[in-house]
Order: sequence, then structure tokens, then C-alpha cells
Amino acid sequence: MSSEHKKTDVILIGAGVMSATLGALLKELAPDWNIKVFEKLAGAGEESSNEWNNAGTGHAALCELNYTSEKPDGSVDISKAVKINEQFQLSRQFWSYLVQHKLIRRPQDFIMPIPHMSWVEGEKNVAFLNKRFKALSQNPLFQGMEYSEDPRKLKEWVPLMMEGRTSQEPVAATRITSGTDVNFGALTRLLFDHLQSRKVEVHYRHAIKDIKRTGDGLWKVKVHNLSSGQTESHSAKFVFIGAGGGSLSLLQKTGIPESRHIGGFPVSGLFLACDNPEVVERHHAKVYGKAKLGAPPMSVPHLDTRYINNKKALLFGPFAGFSPKFLKTGSNLDLIGSVKPNNLFTMLAAGAKEMALTRYLIQQLMLSCEQRMNELREFIPNAKSGDWKVVVAGQRVQVIKDTPDGRGTLQFGTEVVSAADGSVAALLGASPGASTAVHVMLEVLSKCFPQHIKSWEPKIREMIPSYGIPLASRPELLKDIMASVNQTLGLGEEEPQKQANFR
Ligand SMILES: Cc1cc2nc3c(=O)[nH]c(=O)nc-3n(C[C@H](O)[C@H](O)[C@H](O)COP(=O)(O)OP(=O)(O)OC[C@H]3O[C@@H](n4cnc5c(N)ncnc54)[C@H](O)[C@@H]3O)c2cc1C
Repeated sequence: MSSEHKKTDVILIGAGVMSATLGALLKELAPDWNIKVFEKLAGAGEESSNEWNNAGTGHAALCELNYTSEKPDGSVDISKAVKINEQFQLSRQFWSYLVQHKLIRRPQDFIMPIPHMSWVEGEKNVAFLNKRFKALSQNPLFQGMEYSEDPRKLKEWVPLMMEGRTSQEPVAATRITSGTDVNFGALTRLLFDHLQSRKVEVHYRHAIKDIKRTGDGLWKVKVHNLSSGQTESHSAKFVFIGAGGGSLSLLQKTGIPESRHIGGFPVSGLFLACDNPEVVERHHAKVYGKAKLGAPPMSVPHLDTRYINNKKALLFGPFAGFSPKFLKTGSNLDLIGSVKPNNLFTMLAAGAKEMALTRYLIQQLMLSCEQRMNELREFIPNAKSGDWKVVVAGQRVQVIKDTPDGRGTLQFGTEVVSAADGSVAALLGASPGASTAVHVMLEVLSKCFPQHIKSWEPKIREMIPSYGIPLASRPELLKDIMASVNQTLGLGEEEPQKQANFR
């Protein structure tokens, strides 16, 4: 066993889409800074960011019903949907900048246009969808959204979903063609190729075991080289913990006061996947339904067209479940190991409050194959078991923390936790996830580099023209940005040739 001590400016822990995005932003803003990345697996984008471990939806609130709620006066609150859409616009602009400057190539390898649809059944839900449509379609961010209750129209939009439908319940859908399918695994790999070409040292099969502050204000990380078996020591002025489900335990090791009273609740997921071309070719949309009563927001059922490795596929799910692991490649001791004296009461309070959620997850875990197929048949009435196989998705670790709403409150969003001096930051939580990576990493930059952010702003605006601007209130700017980004990323009108490459 040997120990070396090597200094650098920045250490990024984990080679997922978050570290990739932060690394790519920093390489443009501070090109001279030395950056090292440590990843315990053998490649980039192997955990949650992998294409088969998430649903690949470019979350822009075009179809996700859980981003709009009904207010007590019966009107629909679209503020969250507007916020998420604007955050996704930041990601699109940054990806477009990278493509335009040939820092990453072939956008069709990671982003494809696909209609986004919301789908509901039953009178009450139809009335809600109609109100939601009216509220959203007046906003420039959601321009082009269509609504229909007409079975003929719906058959045109989603033939597979209408075939064999016998229920007398009214159905309705909204459809917007500016939606996207994003292969976050491919994007992560492209970003890491770019970083390596810019002299970023990326060390695969290197697991971070400990993080401690040194006397001179640096952070020292203890790294286990899984190939050689040796333990190394590296230090940096700034450490970003982008370890996905592994972030909480590493954040706890820093000992910063901000890491206290935070816990994690793992939710596992399964998808049903179909690659039978006869079925796949008859569906062309991401269709999001309504969460079942008592189900958490991340288990909203959806049927998605996916573009993965030059092939089209359909994905349905996710079926949530419970596993004590914090990463798909994690350990059964992750949950128990995350309980510390400083978060014990937070965790116990959450446990007591979230019994219904735990029961729901266990119930989901116990579903038989046929029960899962029956849930799919609510979307595709004629679905045949032989066409679908189970795919194990990534783990999501939901944040538990004490809030004004009470001790041990489960959070469904993402949280950047950083030290007061900005020398270390961790990303916790999973939703809306990879789609908002650019927005979240810009938040890391402004929290951790307040002394640089002003001088970086002109470059940030060059890369991301709507940075700091609420696009919903600037329709002309939105139109210009959309047109330019669509052209660079190949997202205009769906090009038949482009679609044909994926058969
Ligand atoms: C079922 C499911 C569906 C989802 N659907 C969507 C969607 O449709 N759209 C969307 O935008 N988002 C979606 N998400 C969320 C999205 O996948 C995540 O937000 C995103 O991938 C997180 O990226 P990350 O870089 O933080 O984590 P990851 O991609 O998990 O990367 C973290 C990396 O850190 C490494 N690591 C962990 N511990 C250590 C250690 N000690 N030392 C070294 N390396 C370490 C891991 O091996 C891993 O490679 C979904 C997630 C799930 C689970």
C-alpha cells in the first residue's frame, strides 16, 4: 500500500452527468484550472445517468402532471412548470453552445425530438387537464400545445393506446411536438471525452473513501485505486461531490455543519421495455399519466419512445420499490450506514411520517409480472407479455431534512449542500434530475465561487443567453433562442431521415 499526495484546483467525485456538466462549465470559465475526476466504476455515466437507468425525458414540464397543481379556487398553478421549463432551456442552450463549438459532436446521439403528451381518464381528470391546457397554452414556453378529447384525434396521436380500449370512461390528452428524449448516458460520455481532450485527469476504478479538511484550508481525499489496490491521497481547493446516491455518505464525511440533520430515503425502480419493431413503430411519444392515489410524484406512470444506441425502444414505468441500496451498484448496508447521531431523530421522524409511502413501495415491489402488465394495459390495452421484459432502473435517494413543515420531511427535488466558505459542495436528490443539470451546476458555481461569478457572467451569457432572464416574460428572445438551439441540436420539425436512422 502506498500513499502519494497530489494537489489540484478542483476534484469532481463521480463521473455522472452532474460532474460532467460542472467540469464542462469550469473548462470554459476557468480553462487554466486543474481538474481531476474520480469514479469508482469502469466508465462514465454508468449509474443513474446511464440511458437504461432513467427515463431520458427532457423534463420541461410539457407533459408531467405533477408540476401543475389545482389551487383551492379551482384554478391551475403553473409556476413550477414555468420554472422547470426555463431550467431545461438553460441545458439546451449549453448543449447547443458545446455542439456549435465542436466540443461535443453529433447531437442526434444524445437528443431527439419526440412529442410529449399528458394522458388522463375519468371526468374529473379530463376537466383538470382541460384547465391545465388553457393555463399553459397562454404561456410562450408552452406554445404549440394541443388538447383533444376526440377519440379519432387520439387515435392519430397514439394508435397503440387507443386500440382495444373498451372502457366507457372519457379520456383526454395534450400533445406538444417540442418535447425531447435525452440519452443522458451518451451525453455524459461525450462530455467526459471532451474533458479528457482538455487535459482533465479522469480516474476510473478509483473510489473515494474519505474527505477531510487540512490545516491549510484544502480538502484531502483518500482514494482507493480498485485496479492496483493502493490507497492514494489527493488534495484540492474545491471538491464537488457528484456521487449520485453515494453523495450523502461522502458529504457526512466532510463533517461540515451543513451536512448535519440530513438523511436519505432510497427508492428503487423497474421499467418494462419493448424492442419488438412491430410494437415500437406504432407509438411515437412520451405519454405521462396521473400518479395513483398515495403514490409519490416520481412514480407517475409513463410510456416512452426512447432512442438508445441507434435503436428505437419503448419503456413503461417506473414501478417504484424499496431497496436499502443508495446506488444500483451499492451495498445493502447503505441505508443503515447513513444513520448518524446527528440525523437519527430526523430519520426516525421521517420513518414515522412516511409509513404510507413505505407501504406503497413494498406493495409495488411485490407486484407480479402479470400485475405489472395489467398496469401497462391501462396504457396499451392489447399489450402482450411476450413483447416486454423487465429492466432494473437506477436508485433515487430522496433527501430527508428538517424543514419549517416539521422534522424529517421527505423532499422530492434536488439540493445543493455547500460549506459556508464554498470549498465543498454536494448534490443530493434526484428530481427533476439530469434535465436541469446546467441550472443546478450554475447554482453550485454561484454558491461556491462568489468571488469569480461576476467576472464569469459575460462568458456564461455567451454560452447560455437566457442566464438570469425569465424567458416566459421575453417571448421574442425565447423565439430567437429556440430557433437557434433547435437548429444546432437538430430539433426542428421531425426529420423523417433522422427518424429512419433509428429503426
Ligand atoms: C428511475 C429513474 C428515472 C429517471 N428519469 C429521469 C428523466 O426522465 N429525466 C431526467 O432528467 N432525470 C431522470 N432521472 C434522474 C437522473 O437520472 C439523475 O438526476 C442524474 O442521472 C444524476 O446524475 P449524477 O451525476 O448526480 O449521478 P450518477 O449518474 O448516479 O453518477 C454518480 C457517479 O458517482 C459514482 N460514485 C458514487 N460513489 C462514489 C465514490 N465513493 N467514489 C467514486 N465514485 C463514486 C457512481 O459510480 C456514479 O458513476 C431518473 C432517475 C431514475 C433513478
